[in-house]
Amino acid sequence: MQPQTRLALAGQRTDNAFNSIAPPIYQTATFRFEDIGTTKGFDYTRSGNPTRLALEETLAALEGGAGAVATTTGMAAITTVLALFEAGAHLICSHDCYGGTERLLCLMQRQGKLSVSFADLTDPEALAAAIRPETRAIWVETPSNPLLRITDLEAVARVARAHDCLLIVDNTFLSPLFQQPFRFGADLVVYSTTKYLNGHSDVVGGAVVARTEALNETLQFTANALGTVAQPFDCWLVLRGLKTLPVRLRQHEENALAVAQYLDAHPAVEKVFYPGLPGHEGHDLARRQQTGFGGMVSFALRGTLDDVHRVLRATRVFALAESLGGVESLIEHPATMSHASMRPDQRRRAGITDQIIRLSVGIEATEDLLEDLEQALRVSEPVTVPAPS
Ligand SMILES: *Cc1c(COP(=O)(O)O)cnc(C)c1O
Repeated sequence: MQPQTRLALAGQRTDNAFNSIAPPIYQTATFRFEDIGTTKGFDYTRSGNPTRLALEETLAALEGGAGAVATTTGMAAITTVLALFEAGAHLICSHDCYGGTERLLCLMQRQGKLSVSFADLTDPEALAAAIRPETRAIWVETPSNPLLRITDLEAVARVARAHDCLLIVDNTFLSPLFQQPFRFGADLVVYSTTKYLNGHSDVVGGAVVARTEALNETLQFTANALGTVAQPFDCWLVLRGLKTLPVRLRQHEENALAVAQYLDAHPAVEKVFYPGLPGHEGHDLARRQQTGFGGMVSFALRGTLDDVHRVLRATRVFALAESLGGVESLIEHPATMSHASMRPDQRRRAGITDQIIRLSVGIEATEDLLEDLEQALRVSEPVTVPAPS
């Protein structure tokens, strides 16, 4: 079955009582035993729930993995994965990873639970230099956030295999429709389902998909032990969102490319970061590794922090908000919003200056988005456009 077919039918055959087309929401904490020691497959919702299972099976099938666990948030997914490691394990992580991931890894390092090296994983030498005997995993985000750098998953997988490490990929920015990390040698794929998978900005959720049966077993055990699993209603919402993922992504990408091209030609814009532009550093790699460029666009404004603030205040279609991947377009300022939790030196190293603005391009009409940016950038223009020489 093609992914769009699989998604349209997701969860459909789960109601054996009445054959409902929409999957039922099993909003229950516990399940009655048939007899002592006999259940209908579920005993307690933390350990398993039919609505959650429908989502987990859909995600595992879409990704080509052995199994998945749906979690309360993306951070709960990351927490679950980090709990797989013994004390003292060393992890290597993309230096421009999600701010919350960096914050959690640094917290665990301060508490002596794990040690972590942040490295530019687009640079093979930086990766090689970060490897230690106690390295147990390499954590990759590609495209990265917010500058959309592309990491060669196959190359990192080779290093991971050579050193007997797990390769973990946070695939939130692309979804399994635009990038399939298992094809390149990943062991675990992590999602914030809050973003594209649910796609409607009305739920926070996460998921981890395991490539092998053995990893899936450990993952299920750990999620149940930690209690990081998602609630039935939230799973139902994500399952519903997933059904339209293919059509949403197509529109996200079409709009993002139009926005990137528009910004690229704008005099108030210093630089555009979008892997779909031929001038982007990772463009060729993205074309090989991804099946789509996604809906995220960042750009550096020519001007001061005041100019940045003027633009952020001026948009009417793009709402000033964190998060991404919803049907509605959002604008935000990484340095003070999504990446504010990052240590300033870490942020600087990752190239996230005060001039960077990040857009989550939604599925609205393209011309409305371009018009909105046009009027917002006009507000900043008198100060920012350099005089013609
Ligand atoms: C949002 C996000 C997370 C965290 O997910 P939550 O659902 O907010 O907990 C992790 N990784 C990436 C890439 C994200 O964008």
